[in-house]
Amino acid sequence: MSNNKDIWKDKLSPEEYYVLREKGTERSFSGKYNMHFEKGTYVCNACKTPLFSSSTKFDAGCGWPSFDQALEGKIEYKQDRSHGVIRTEILCANCNSHLGHVFEDGPTETGLRYCVNSVSLDFNTNN
Ligand SMILES: [Zn+2]
Repeated sequence: MSNNKDIWKDKLSPEEYYVLREKGTERSFSGKYNMHFEKGTYVCNACKTPLFSSSTKFDAGCGWPSFDQALEGKIEYKQDRSHGVIRTEILCANCNSHLGHVFEDGPTETGLRYCVNSVSLDFNTNN
């Protein structure tokens, strides 16, 4: 397996690298997309693959951007047993960057709450 760590170190800011490549978590309520409700598409901040539509975003009150659905086939799911709890980690299926976690306590009909770091996302307005 090739070690492409340094490629990402050049492309990402230290905070982006920490979250996307080292599975870090930004401080709640600190991210620029937490209360961002413009119409458009949220893309992976590392490889720019579209991940979430703004139409699936909602305010979960948890301090991170939350979505009730992801764009089909764009997310990779992985069991995460860190911190003594079993959670489902979500990663970009294209570049394997860490996005956040998905929980099955969503308030909408999908029952899902994708809790994503703002740092893991970039945003494109639809036109
Ligand atoms: Zn990606």
